[in-house]
Amino acid sequence: MFGVLGSFGPFRMQTMTIRHRLSALVAVLTLAGCAPPTPEQQFLNDAYAALGGRSRIEAARHLTIEATGVNYNLGQDLIPDAATQTFEITDYQRVIDIANSRQRVEQVRTPKFAYFQGPQPQKQIQGFDGEAAFNIGATGSVTRLAGRAAADRRADLYHHPLQLLRATLDPATTIANVRATGAIRQADITLQGGPVLTLAVDTAGTPLSISSRTYHANLGDVVVTTALSDYQDVSGLKLPAGFEGKVDAFTTWELQASRQSLDGDVGDLSIPAGAPAAAAPAAPTVTAEPIGQGVWFLAGQSHHSVLVEFSDHLMLIEAPQSEARTQAVIAKARQTVPAKPLTQLVITHHHFDHTAGLRAAIAEGLTVITHSGNRAWVADMARRPHTLQPDALAVTPKPVTVEGVDGQLEFRDATMALTLYHVAANPHSDTMLMAHFPRQAILVEVDAFSPGGQYHPYAANLLENIQSRKLAVDRIVPLHGAVATMADLAKAAGQ
Ligand SMILES: [Zn+2]
Ligand SMILES: [Zn+2]
Repeated sequence: MFGVLGSFGPFRMQTMTIRHRLSALVAVLTLAGCAPPTPEQQFLNDAYAALGGRSRIEAARHLTIEATGVNYNLGQDLIPDAATQTFEITDYQRVIDIANSRQRVEQVRTPKFAYFQGPQPQKQIQGFDGEAAFNIGATGSVTRLAGRAAADRRADLYHHPLQLLRATLDPATTIANVRATGAIRQADITLQGGPVLTLAVDTAGTPLSISSRTYHANLGDVVVTTALSDYQDVSGLKLPAGFEGKVDAFTTWELQASRQSLDGDVGDLSIPAGAPAAAAPAAPTVTAEPIGQGVWFLAGQSHHSVLVEFSDHLMLIEAPQSEARTQAVIAKARQTVPAKPLTQLVITHHHFDHTAGLRAAIAEGLTVITHSGNRAWVADMARRPHTLQPDALAVTPKPVTVEGVDGQLEFRDATMALTLYHVAANPHSDTMLMAHFPRQAILVEVDAFSPGGQYHPYAANLLENIQSRKLAVDRIVPLHGAVATMADLAKAAGQ
């Protein structure tokens, strides 16, 4: 049943059936204030006490956390599930305006691996103000978040026990479903307007973790968890100094507080005046440019694909960015060669931005071809539940067929020949493929060389992969940027 945050003394009944109301009334009349607390009340009372008491929680105005730590590279690492690529986090400061539900997080992240945006530190500023979620760029420009991203930012504010327990003092907040697993108790706390946050506490009531559910375009339904540890005294409160963020089982960040303070001057955390409204996502645009006999560049916006025509079927290389983009790319492929069925999808590597349309392609019945190191991962992506925001595959479930490529695999018939090669030892991805068309002297690749980019940390490796295999290449067709030459690649590789 729903427990209550509010009106017996501090508790108020929220969601009760008539029978419950009557029994509560009887309890009040007969026990006259001596009623034992409900499991929900007990759960909260223990958590309040562990943090330093309800009145101290209520009195707290602002919290400032300074920390250092690590961000991981979920969905963009060398291989699926790996956590080898990290950003060092310095100058981290999280400021929470508790009563006004405002938060500002600033950090500097420095890649500790060969990063496509270069090795220099990047400053990041993320804000939340009441209902407004926003980022502040290096030049001070404000970008508003919308939809799921804004809801996730709001949830993040409550992934701190002080902010969450403070929110339970609001009579509009409800708590339910207290349960125990061994010595750990959990309860679901629902804020007015969402989200639902699951708080886990130990036997003493000390918060161990806070989780909430959200939707991820690649991973589907996920649980985002902040694990809490290393409780320390901060001006009369006990607050965690150790934090670990997870998306399902993947650790995505870790922070260790070096200094925490309460009720100092935190400045103005409200959204800057004049911030523009959140931009609506751009509708996908796809062009079809012939770049050789039976090969079309399906370009547009930031992530491109390639269409290949065989005697009796079509192959698509890459299903990037989103379900909407991939559906537009598939429509353009069918429109370009309407007489033949589109049956195969090659995914170059597992990175989220290049596979966000994978499930849309599976829903269209396409067989997936990828490096053998991505096979289990593709099967997992096809299997994961997408109930919070059902996508095409959730609406129309289809079995997936995945074919693996190790070193190389040739596809040849009367009209077309192409070979998929593993891009060996590339520091961007260990399980990445490139496609070579010997008759057209074209190489399709992604991320190893993005013409027009400022940094090319993987270009030398791509050049080596082309040269060691003695591939004839006149043009490089990149899935980011414009068609380039071997001379362009050699120049980038020489940087
Ligand atoms: Zn990538
Ligand atoms: Zn990319």
